Amino acid sequence: MPLTGRAVPLFRRVLPVYLFAIVAPTLVLLYLGLQSVKRQREAIVSLSESNLRLSGDRLAAELERRTSELAASALEDPDVVSLPLPADGRFTPEVGARIRNAFGRIQARHPIARHFFLLQGNAVRFPLLRAPSPQPLLATSKDARHFEQLFSEAEDQELRLQRPDLALESYRQSYQLALPDAWKARALERMARCLQETQQAAKAGEAYRTLLGRYGGLYDSFFRPYAVVAVLEMKAPDLVPQLQREMLRGQWELTAEQMDYFWERLIKLPGAQLSTQESEFRSHLQFAQALEAKFQHQGLLRPGEVYALAFARPPNNYQTYYTQLAAPGRSETLVGLSVNLDWVQQTLLPQASADLGMEQVARLVPNGSPDSGPPGGLVRAAFKDAFPFWKLAIGPASGTNLATGANNTLVFSLSTILVLSLLVLSITLLVRDVFRQIEIGRLRADFVSGISHELKTPLTLIRLYGETLLEGEDFPEPERRGYYQVITRESERLTRLIEKVLDFSRIDRDRKQYHMQDGDLAATIADSVQIYGDYLKRRGFSVETEIATHLPTARFDPEAVSQAVLNLLDNAAKYSAESKFVGVRLQAGEAHVVLEVEDHGIGIPANERGKLFQQFYRSPGSTGKGGYGLGLYLVKHIMDAHGGAVEVESEAGRGSRFRLSFPCTRS
Ligand code: ADP
Repeated sequence: MPLTGRAVPLFRRVLPVYLFAIVAPTLVLLYLGLQSVKRQREAIVSLSESNLRLSGDRLAAELERRTSELAASALEDPDVVSLPLPADGRFTPEVGARIRNAFGRIQARHPIARHFFLLQGNAVRFPLLRAPSPQPLLATSKDARHFEQLFSEAEDQELRLQRPDLALESYRQSYQLALPDAWKARALERMARCLQETQQAAKAGEAYRTLLGRYGGLYDSFFRPYAVVAVLEMKAPDLVPQLQREMLRGQWELTAEQMDYFWERLIKLPGAQLSTQESEFRSHLQFAQALEAKFQHQGLLRPGEVYALAFARPPNNYQTYYTQLAAPGRSETLVGLSVNLDWVQQTLLPQASADLGMEQVARLVPNGSPDSGPPGGLVRAAFKDAFPFWKLAIGPASGTNLATGANNTLVFSLSTILVLSLLVLSITLLVRDVFRQIEIGRLRADFVSGISHELKTPLTLIRLYGETLLEGEDFPEPERRGYYQVITRESERLTRLIEKVLDFSRIDRDRKQYHMQDGDLAATIADSVQIYGDYLKRRGFSVETEIATHLPTARFDPEAVSQAVLNLLDNAAKYSAESKFVGVRLQAGEAHVVLEVEDHGIGIPANERGKLFQQFYRSPGSTGKGGYGLGLYLVKHIMDAHGGAVEVESEAGRGSRFRLSFPCTRS
C-alpha cells in the first residue's frame, strides 16, 4: 500500500515514540543482562577455580602418600633382602646380571619402580658403572701353569720386544692346550691381534670370527665381552647392527663406562645405526650415572626408614626412594628405586582420583611448563615433599567447561535479539495495519462523496429529459425516441451503480447472502452478455461471443454471476480506448467451467495486477473513467463464495483477459 501524503507525517510521529518506548528500553535491558551474565560467569570461574585448587591439593597429597607407601613396600619385598650380592664385594657383569634378574622379578610385583639401584658408600654398585679390577685366571692344573708360562712369554714378545710374529706362535701353543674355554678364548683373542699386527688380515678375521662364534659370551680379564671385541675388530658391516641391538638390550651387563666407550666406537663403523633407540638398559645406566653425581645422604641412616631423593638431569627428572638393606652383614649397602612416572601418571593418578571420588581431569606436568587448556581451566597444585620437579595440573571433568558463561551470553544475546526482532515485526505489522485503516477510511469518505456525485448525473439527466418530454408535445418521433433512450440508459446505469453499492455494503457488513443452485452457467451468462452486449454495440463496440453448449453443471447464484460478468464487461468497455473490442468465451475446462472476458484496451501494468482485487483500488492511470475500485473487489468476493477463482492476464497497451473458473458439481 503506498503511503499517502497524510500517512507520512503520522509515520514520522510514530517512529520516535516507537524508538523511545520499545527499542531503547530493550537495548538497555540487553546491556544490563549481558553485564549480569558476565559477572555470573566470573563468579562461576573463580568458584570453580578455588574448588579445583582444593581438589588439586587433596589429590597431590594422596598421590604423594601412595607413591611413598608403594615405594616402601617395594623396598621391603622379601626378594630385596635375599638379593644375590657378591660375597667378595666384586660387582662383576655376572653378578650384575643376577641382581638384574632378581630386581626384574620384584619390579613385576611393584610397578611403582622403574629402576632399582644399590649404593655403597655413596657409590652406585648396581647397575654397574665401572668394572672391578682385572681378574687373572687361577692356575690350578699343570696345563694351566704351562699356559701361564707360554702366555707371559708371548706377552713379553708382543708388548716389550714388539715382535708379534714370535708372540703369535707362543699364543697359538697356549691356545692348543686342553684347558677350559676362558683360557682358550684369552689365547685366541691374542692370536687374532698378532695376526692383525703382522698384516694377515684374512687369518685375523677368521680368528675373530671363531672367537665370536665359540666364546662370544665370555669376558676378557677386563670384563670386556669377546663378542663386542671381535665385532669391533672385524668391522664387518653385517654384524654391527645386531651387536648394537644386543648392547641396547643389556646383553653382557656392560658397565656404563663400557657402554659409552663401545658405543662411541661402534657408531663410527660401516653399517652402524645412528638412531638412538629407546633402551631401558641404557636409560638405567644414565640414571645411575646421574644418581652417583647427586647422591649424598644427609644425617644418620636409620634401619628400616625409607628416604626420598629427587634430582634432575636434564632432560630427565627423577624421584627416588632408598633404604638401608636390612640383612645381616649388608648394612653398608643401600637399596633404592626410581619412580616409574608413566605408571604413576597412567595408573596411580586415575586410581587415586577415583578413590577420592573426583571427576576432574588431572595429570603430572613438569614444573614451569606452559599452561595449556582454557584460561582458568587448568589449575596447578604443588606436592609437599615428593615430586619437586612436577606439579599436578587439574582441570574440570572433560566435557564440562569452566567458561560456560560464554554460552549463557550467547543464549541471552540470541534470545534478546529474537525478542527484539519479534517486537520490530509486530510493531511494523501494527503500523502497516493502522496506515491501511487510515487509507481505507479516507477512501470510504471519498467514495461516499463520489457516489453521491455519480448518482446525481443520471438523475439530473432523467429529470431533464423527462421534463423536456412533458413540456414540448410536438417533438418529432426520432428525437423523442432519443430522449427515451437517454432516460432508459441513465436509469440502467443508475440501477447498476445502486446494485454495486448495495452489494458492497452487504459484503462490508458481512450480510451478503448467496442463493446457490445447480444449473447450466451458459444460460445465465448468455443473458447477461446479451443485455450488456446490445448496449456495447450501440456504443460502437464489436462484441464476439463464444458460448459452449452442454457444459457440466455448476453450483452458482445466477444474480451474483451476472453481476460479476457485468462488472467485467463494464471494465472492458471502460478501459478500451480506441480499439473497441470485447470478447466473451465460455467453455468447459478440467473440472471447471471457465469464462473469459477479453478486451484490446489499455491493459494493466505488471506491478498493479496483484492489487486489482483490493477494495477501492484504482489504477493511477484510470482517473476520469468513473468507478470507485469496487468492481473487481466484488468479482473476487463472488468467485470466492463459489469456491472458484479469478485470474488476469494483461499487457499494458495491448489489452486484458479476465478468467473466472467455476468448479463443476458433476460432469
Ligand atoms: P473501477 O470501478 O475503478 O473500474 P474496478 O475494481 O472494477 O474499479 O477496477 C479496479 C482497477 O482495475 C481499475 O481502476 C482499472 O485501473 C483496472 N482495470 C479493471 N479492469 C480493467 C481492464 N479491463 N483493462 C484495464 N484496466 C482494468
